[in-house]
Amino acid sequence: PIPKEPPKIHRLDEAVVNRIAAGEVIQRPVSAVKELVENSIDADSTSISILVKDGGLKLIQISDDGHGIRYEDLPILCERHTTSKLSTYEDLQSIKSMGFRGEALASMTYVGHVTVTTITKGQLHGYRASYRDGKMEHEPKACAAVKGTQIMIENLFYNMSARRKTLQNSADDYPKIVDLICRFAIHHMSVNFSCRKHGAARADVHSVSTSSRLDAIRSVYGISVAQNLMKIEASDCDPSSSIFEMDGFISNSNYIAKKITMILFVNDRLVECGALKRAIEIVYAATLPKASKPFIYMSIKLPPEHIDVNVHPTKREVKMKIKINENVKICVRSPLALFILRFSCIGDVVCQVSLLNQEVIIEKIQSSVESKLRNSNESRTFQEQR
Ligand code: ADP
Ligand code: MG
Repeated sequence: PIPKEPPKIHRLDEAVVNRIAAGEVIQRPVSAVKELVENSIDADSTSISILVKDGGLKLIQISDDGHGIRYEDLPILCERHTTSKLSTYEDLQSIKSMGFRGEALASMTYVGHVTVTTITKGQLHGYRASYRDGKMEHEPKACAAVKGTQIMIENLFYNMSARRKTLQNSADDYPKIVDLICRFAIHHMSVNFSCRKHGAARADVHSVSTSSRLDAIRSVYGISVAQNLMKIEASDCDPSSSIFEMDGFISNSNYIAKKITMILFVNDRLVECGALKRAIEIVYAATLPKASKPFIYMSIKLPPEHIDVNVHPTKREVKMKIKINENVKICVRSPLALFILRFSCIGDVVCQVSLLNQEVIIEKIQSSVESKLRNSNESRTFQEQR
């Protein structure tokens, strides 16, 4: 055969590059909602309401009562890599905010139409500006506004026809959005959340600020869940070298569900950890076979320098990079736990963790779940026998 001419290499248009990158950060409507809610939380809001039309493809509107955005920042608000949260690379070590890349709003302008209305403290009126492809479309217009910021994303993926078709053909994202807001609502107890479908008379999530975690869970997930929960805590043995702390609620043997609900926050970031989820599921299956699909809410706190948040734009998986301190003794090493760890390590590609170190945490959590379940089960059996 005649050798083929090599194809010519050329530079992609910036617009193409930006749209491709944006499609990775904002994969579906629910990912846009997550970014927007995190922005509102970062802005110290105490009230966040979400309105969704057509599963988020027509409209996602989020209103908060946070600190708002300065007038002079509006022109660069939706450019890529503009942020108020990070200045130097070293800041990443101690970052407390959920955002820091300055990519979310920009991404939304490359795959949808973005309108921002905002007012800052002490101002008589607010401003409204709209954005496309990273740029502000016209001078901000003065307008009436209440405290905080309102962001509207319209026609998401209007310029990505394949993505739009796939999303239109599958079940819409609204249930995923509701699920996400429920998770945020029980962790951020002092924030009032509401989430409503366009045209619906009432909200599907409506949480009111409380100082009791159990009350928060009751108001979001209902009495039937809340009444079957047990408080759980774990940390490492040596309080002077405390590397991690976990507290949360786990369901007891009376809780029956078709699938597991696992709500995990690591340093206040909503994340997923497949290995931990599987580890807990296996403990339930072995201890309470009837209630083997548990409800789990856990909040894990680690020293910030032990977490690498800079893993993936969607930040769903944080790497737990725990340096094991010599003082840390492992309290209980059940043979079951060891088996589970080996099992969960095989093929674990989703959770990008340094396994050796994550093991310590998973093992600790697992043994505290196990002993909690055993105790509750034994006391129940004992009461039944009496
Ligand atoms: P990041 O959150 O990584 O900084 P974003 O693109 O999500 O990047 O947001 C860019 C900037 O816009 C933020 O740093 C913040 O200053 C501002 N911002 C976004 N949403 C809000 C909001 N709801 N209230 C106040 N400021 C906001
Ligand atoms: Mg953000």
